Amino acid sequence: MKLSGLEIFKYLPGSKKAAHTNCKECGCPTCMTFAIKLSQKQISYDRCKYMAEELKTLYAKNIKAAQKTVKIDGLKIGGENVLYRHEKKFINKTVFAVVLDCKASDFEQKLKRIKNFEINRINEKLKVDLVILKNAEKHTLKNLCDETIYIEEKDFLKLSLTRITDNNFDKTAQKLIKFRTKAITEHDAKYCDPVYVYFKSTANKYNLCARASYYICKYANMLVFEDFDESLFATLMTLRQNIYTDPQKPLQVEAKIYEFNNPDENSLVFMTTNFALTFHAVANELQNLKVPSYLIVTPAGGMSVLTAFSAEKFTSKMVAKTLKKFDLANKVKTRKIIIPGLLAPMKNELEKALPEFEIIVGTIEAYSIAEFVKNLT
Ligand code: SF4
Repeated sequence: MKLSGLEIFKYLPGSKKAAHTNCKECGCPTCMTFAIKLSQKQISYDRCKYMAEELKTLYAKNIKAAQKTVKIDGLKIGGENVLYRHEKKFINKTVFAVVLDCKASDFEQKLKRIKNFEINRINEKLKVDLVILKNAEKHTLKNLCDETIYIEEKDFLKLSLTRITDNNFDKTAQKLIKFRTKAITEHDAKYCDPVYVYFKSTANKYNLCARASYYICKYANMLVFEDFDESLFATLMTLRQNIYTDPQKPLQVEAKIYEFNNPDENSLVFMTTNFALTFHAVANELQNLKVPSYLIVTPAGGMSVLTAFSAEKFTSKMVAKTLKKFDLANKVKTRKIIIPGLLAPMKNELEKALPEFEIIVGTIEAYSIAEFVKNLT
């Protein structure tokens, strides 16, 4: 079903100037904005309670996922509705699975490495999602109680999943694109099962990383590896995390003053925007510094420092307003604020807007903060 914004608008209160016209309950300023967003799949139809029943029914019928979802314990595979992330968002991130042969001589060692693998990025703990056990005996599964999800190979093979063994990059890529396109655009039942790519053991990790990266982007629901390599998984998980965010909801943290290592009125004061990635990178460094400090996080719509500066979401006026709201002048005796190095051109402007404070230009990258603080006089 493809309706234009104008066709959808006819079913909304705004077209008849009826009750609730432009009530904004859907989060849009007008019914027309909602109609346009809905036509572009940027908003869900159920955000407007007041649309005509006829249209509601039409959307409810079509809302069913184009691709099926397969569940293994709490893990969801597939269930995607769109071809491109900007149309709406991707639903279930590409699952990373490792095959583990219980009879292999390196079983214990490989299992230990899988269990120990954990990275924290943007406040998310990333671990191997699934372990597929080959040659498992009854007691093996019982002894594996931890956060990872395990499945015996024989049970895994019974799931409604389509397998593509990665022997040839072009063929794998073409199949993935064909399967997803058929499922989304035609709801063709032959192509609606989630798809996984199976990687046989290889010594060429760079090539494996390049291929797997492409398949995450287009359109593998799961990647199954015979090998387990920590650096490969860390790289792929970083890429996956960036793709499987909701493009309509920037990753952001609350704008406020954060405290590290029990600061007092004489502690260092840093400033950045509320873009989650920047915040966690800076917060991580400040926490590890073992020096008491404050971090002022300004409201910037979840934009990074430079983007916020370019979009005029980080202005001297906004900073002055934010500091007043946080009552910084009374909270600290120190009169120095360290701003991100990328905002060096704003130093004079900020000092004019904040006459009580001296503005110090800090580092461009968070990892240089420790060195910067060591050299601070
Ligand atoms: Fe219009 Fe419905 Fe949005 Fe209200 S909730 S503004 S009626 S589209």
